[in-house]
Amino acid sequence: MNQRELFFRHVAQTSTAPLALEIVKAAGSRLWDADGKEYIDLIAGISVCNVGHRHPRVVKAIKKQLDEYLHLLVYGELVQSPQVQYAKLITNHLPGSLNSVFFTNSGAEAVEGAMKLAKRTTGRTQIIAFKQSYHGSTQGALSIIGDEYWRQAFRPLLPDVWHLDHGSMEAIEAITERTACVIAEPVQAERGVFTPAKAWMQALRKKCTATGTLLILDEIQTGFGRTGTLWAFEQFNITPDVLLLGKALGGGMPLGAFIANQSVMGHLADNPVLGHITTFGGHPVCCAAGLAALKVLLKETLVQEVQQKEALFLKLLKHPAIKEVRSNGLMMAVEFDSYDTNKRIIDACIANGVLTDWFLFAPQCMRIVPPLTISPKEIKRACKVIIAAISG
Ligand code: PLP
Repeated sequence: MNQRELFFRHVAQTSTAPLALEIVKAAGSRLWDADGKEYIDLIAGISVCNVGHRHPRVVKAIKKQLDEYLHLLVYGELVQSPQVQYAKLITNHLPGSLNSVFFTNSGAEAVEGAMKLAKRTTGRTQIIAFKQSYHGSTQGALSIIGDEYWRQAFRPLLPDVWHLDHGSMEAIEAITERTACVIAEPVQAERGVFTPAKAWMQALRKKCTATGTLLILDEIQTGFGRTGTLWAFEQFNITPDVLLLGKALGGGMPLGAFIANQSVMGHLADNPVLGHITTFGGHPVCCAAGLAALKVLLKETLVQEVQQKEALFLKLLKHPAIKEVRSNGLMMAVEFDSYDTNKRIIDACIANGVLTDWFLFAPQCMRIVPPLTISPKEIKRACKVIIAAISG
C-alpha cells in the first residue's frame, strides 16, 4: 500500500474529500510532492509559515534546542530560556500594558484560556462574539464562532454567548457591565477578509473600557506581519486587553499564546490556583522556533514588503469573472460567483502547480495567504496560473 492509501486507511479524516497531496519537501514559498512536482504555496499552512517553510534560522534554532532539552515539566513550573526569551521579545514589540505571555499548544487553547481569564477577572459570564468569525474547534471556541452550521451538531455549548454583526453599532450598544469580554478578529479572515472601519474598532475599545469589559483581539491569523503591520490592531490605534496569537507564532511549530497585563494574568494563579494549565504549552522547541522566526521578521524587510506584494497581486488579479478581491496585506480573498466556480478554479490551479483553497465561511472566495517571503517572480507566476485557470 502506498502512503496515500495508508493515509485514507489509518489517518482520521475531517472531510470526505481531503486534498491528499503527498508533500515530501517544503522550502521558502514552494512545496514538492512525491512525484517531484513543484507548487507555489498560496496558503502558508493557513497563515503559519510567514517566514517561509523551513527558514534556515528557524531550522538552526530547532536543532540547537534539540541538543539541549525537549519537554521537561508542565507549563509554568520551570524557567526555560526559549520561553523566557520569546516572551521578552514579543512583549518588547507590544504596547507596555501587554506584558505577560501565557503560552499554549494551539490557537483554540489560547481562546479557551482568554475566555476563562475574562470570566475570572470580571466575575461576569456574558461573552460577545461576532457572526462569521472563526476562533477554533474546541467546545469553548466553537461556542463563540459565528456560524450556526458549524455549531449546531455539538450543543449544548457555552451559555451566555451573544453573536452580533461585526462592524455594527448594535454590537457596541450590547456591551454592558454584565459583559465579561468581547472577542473579535481585527480582520475577519474566514468570512473572506473583511476589515472593519477604524471608527468602529475605536468605539469597541471605548465601550469595553467604559464597562470594565475585556477586549480580546484574536490575531491568530493576522499576527506577525500578515497584514503589513506586525499586529493588525496597530492599524486601528487601539490596544486590546488580551491578545491572542497562534499559527505563525511557532515559526512552523505548534504554539499559541494569550497575552495580557500581569495584573490581569495574575488571576489565573489564584482562586483557583492553576487557573489554566497545560502540559505541553510553550514547548521549548516550539518557543525556540518561534523566537527565531520573529527575529527573522524583525531583521529582514518582509513586513515592509507586504504592501508592495499585495499591490502586485491586486494589479495582476484582474478578470471579468472575479467579482471582488478583498485584501489586508497578504491576506486576500478573490471572490467568484459560487463555490462551484471557485472549486473548479482551485482544482485547475493545483493541477498547474499553485496551491490554494477557499475560506470556511466564504466558499466562493479563493484564499491567497502566501508566505511573506513570496517573491515578485513567484507572485507573477501564481497569478498567471490563476488567470489561466479562470479562463479555463
Ligand atoms: N482564531 C483564528 C482567527 C483562526 O484562524 C484559527 C484557526 O484557523 C483559530 C483561532 C484556531 O487556531 P487553532 O487551529 O490553532 O486551534
